[in-house]
Amino acid sequence: MRVTVIGCSGSYPGPDSPASCYLVQAEGYSLLLDLGSGALGPLQRHQSLYDIDAVCVSHLHADHCLDLCGYWVARTYCPNGPLPKLPVYGPADTPDRMARAYDLDPDPGMTGTFDFRTLERTFELGPFRVTTSLMPHPVEAFAFRVEHGGRVLAYSGDTGPAAELVDTARGADLFLCEASFLDGPGNPPDLHLTAREAGEHAARADVGRLVLTHLVPWNDADRSLAEAKGSAYQGPIELAHVGAVYDL
Ligand SMILES: [Zn+2]
Ligand SMILES: [Zn+2]
Repeated sequence: MRVTVIGCSGSYPGPDSPASCYLVQAEGYSLLLDLGSGALGPLQRHQSLYDIDAVCVSHLHADHCLDLCGYWVARTYCPNGPLPKLPVYGPADTPDRMARAYDLDPDPGMTGTFDFRTLERTFELGPFRVTTSLMPHPVEAFAFRVEHGGRVLAYSGDTGPAAELVDTARGADLFLCEASFLDGPGNPPDLHLTAREAGEHAARADVGRLVLTHLVPWNDADRSLAEAKGSAYQGPIELAHVGAVYDL
């Protein structure tokens, strides 16, 4: 399984990264986890837009789903003719949410181009087994565990601290964990993790590698890294960056 970071900026694109998007590939199958603001452009450096097999959207905040708008145009009006409907997994409201985002009539919205499917607890997707878990966040939001050939990728999506996140990441080879907040008073509950909390979750889940992501541009990322390294997690920790590739 190969994981490529397409976008790792938190909440809005930064000068060096789009918002959340990860390309996960195995056996010729290409899956996108999230397609956030700004990700559609850089994605094309790594994979043709017409060689994506499925998209899983963790939740319907703009920084995780909004580039489905441009992608709808690219697939709907492709001059080479109609493309097969692309499976897009997300929360139940995803079809209406995306129709509103593009100011389309909700019927048919984007359903002529995307085969919207509501996320289930566990499902097979090409060569992958995907397990979802509901996370604490202001909207319905899921973490993903993606398994292939005995290797495991875990992705937090957006979440506050949660035992369910530890379960999702248990024994993962690679844990892409959001680290939106810095240590300090006043961080709101059930919204995001600090980098230190990301490290604590990684330690409890005993993951092989922790990559801090959803890094918000107004923070000092080096401080996030230092705070995570001050956590109980003793394994390798790094900051996500655009174009980083992990072969699991
Ligand atoms: Zn976000
Ligand atoms: Zn969010």
